[in-house]
Amino acid sequence: MQCRRSGRHHPLYGTGAIAVNFDRIQLNRRNLLKAAGAGLVAAGTAGCSSSVKPQENPGIIGKDGKRVLPWSNWSGNQHCQPNERLVPRNEDELLNILRNATQPIRSVGSGHSFSALVPTDQTLLSLARLRGVENIDSDAMEADVWAGTRLSQIGDKLWEHGLSTINMSDIDTQAFGGALATSTHGTGKELGTLSTHVKTLRIANAAGEMLECSASQNADLFNAARNNLGALGVVTKARIHADKAYYLKEHSWMMSEDEGLERAEELRDAHRHYEMYALPHSDYMLGIAIDKIDPSEIPADQPEPSGDAYEAFRMMSNLIDYMPFARSWLVNFGAGGVEPETRYGKSHEIFGNLRDIRFNEMEYTVPAEVGPQCLREILQTIKKQNIPVIFPIEARYIKGDDVWLSPFYKRDGFAISCHNFHDKDYKKYFAAIEPIFWKYDGRPHWGKIHTLKAAEFAARYERFNDFLRIRKEMDPQGLFLNDHLRSTLGIS
Ligand SMILES: Cc1cc2nc3c(=O)[nH]c(=O)nc-3n(C[C@H](O)[C@H](O)[C@H](O)COP(=O)(O)OP(=O)(O)OC[C@H]3O[C@@H](n4cnc5c(N)ncnc54)[C@H](O)[C@@H]3O)c2cc1C
Repeated sequence: MQCRRSGRHHPLYGTGAIAVNFDRIQLNRRNLLKAAGAGLVAAGTAGCSSSVKPQENPGIIGKDGKRVLPWSNWSGNQHCQPNERLVPRNEDELLNILRNATQPIRSVGSGHSFSALVPTDQTLLSLARLRGVENIDSDAMEADVWAGTRLSQIGDKLWEHGLSTINMSDIDTQAFGGALATSTHGTGKELGTLSTHVKTLRIANAAGEMLECSASQNADLFNAARNNLGALGVVTKARIHADKAYYLKEHSWMMSEDEGLERAEELRDAHRHYEMYALPHSDYMLGIAIDKIDPSEIPADQPEPSGDAYEAFRMMSNLIDYMPFARSWLVNFGAGGVEPETRYGKSHEIFGNLRDIRFNEMEYTVPAEVGPQCLREILQTIKKQNIPVIFPIEARYIKGDDVWLSPFYKRDGFAISCHNFHDKDYKKYFAAIEPIFWKYDGRPHWGKIHTLKAAEFAARYERFNDFLRIRKEMDPQGLFLNDHLRSTLGIS
């Protein structure tokens, strides 16, 4: 697996943890691969591959007599065969599509949601042609972003005008419209989700009318549309607040699990961004602190990123499958040798991670004050039930907001993200963990795996019925619904 663009591999997912550790103890990545390979041969599993096979499904002949390819999300856990794919070139074309629609339409961004928000066997609509960053006002620190713009395309453009995004998610390959639909977030005690950076928003309803909303114009629509699930209409553009261009220093270091949990709030308060990665079945936790710096603080020599540890990480996981008794020892062995790492760069260069390791994910946000306690219980449960997972658990602090269906609505949150490799069973793991999230009054990420239905959402969101009211006004006939939305929103 190769890096596709210059960006960072996360210390745990990419170049850091495994490579650094095994280098230090004179067992480099190549040796690790050999050792893992030998272990697999011994276990009779040589030739196991984790690579995703290219889709061979040629699709169907669709509504208009043209071939329509099947759709799958990033991790491969969601699939569908639409009978039509539409990619309007401009807002007028979009409005025409909506006015003349004869069957349900689902919007798709970049397919980075794990939940079944997108799948449809009817029309799949992408705004990939409505992209770009415009009308940048450096003094007011604002810009218009088209919904089809990938998050990775925003940073460079703003930088040219002396601006940076206020924050960013872990990766930046999502479409802007898709990210807004699910309250996509980064980390930072004083920083809200990307939806909270929106000043005004344009959204087309099912009748093919374009509506503008903001805190002072169509305020109810604004509060619903900043976490809209693609259920209210099609967002075409938003004006966002930005920050003055800034540089960042990212420092990551390994500490004991106990220290990580005990110091979580102190470290959250001390840094602009703070997140932690707990390593199941180990005694360790990685802390990552990111802060603004003056460019004069950037050292002339920055270490070159080393190679990619994907194969090594995967092989370690495969090896553990056949030597489960060695799981804890191996993970501790890897984690214990990780050296601290520091990186510097422009804001958008530091924010954008590469995620070449495909996985499935469940994320719940619990109230910030009980976050570390909830994380501790999850880690204990994994150990106690001997759940076969070594994938790091990410935990982040995010500021509360006023977006009706935001997991951070009216409360500061601690988002805990549990993953497993895309080709390993995640269902038993998530089934064991999800009740712990419920116990701590958790709210799921709308774009990630969960099992909640409408009644449970209604109990968690005081403005749930207001969201349903706006949805009905925007789309009385259910043009924008699929089965998943009907069940999560309680619409028959
Ligand atoms: C590797 C990886 C890392 C991730 N990291 C983070 C993270 O750090 N923080 C976080 O919060 N989440 C994260 N996510 C989740 C992801 O940000 C959300 O699921 C996001 O909604 C995906 O955006 P997308 O463009 O892929 O949209 P899709 O998944 O394609 O669609 C998501 C929703 O947006 C709707 N939609 C898309 N475009 C429009 C539009 N123009 N108008 C109206 N509705 C629209 C769709 O109908 C759907 O309901 C991650 C996901 C992956 C796979």
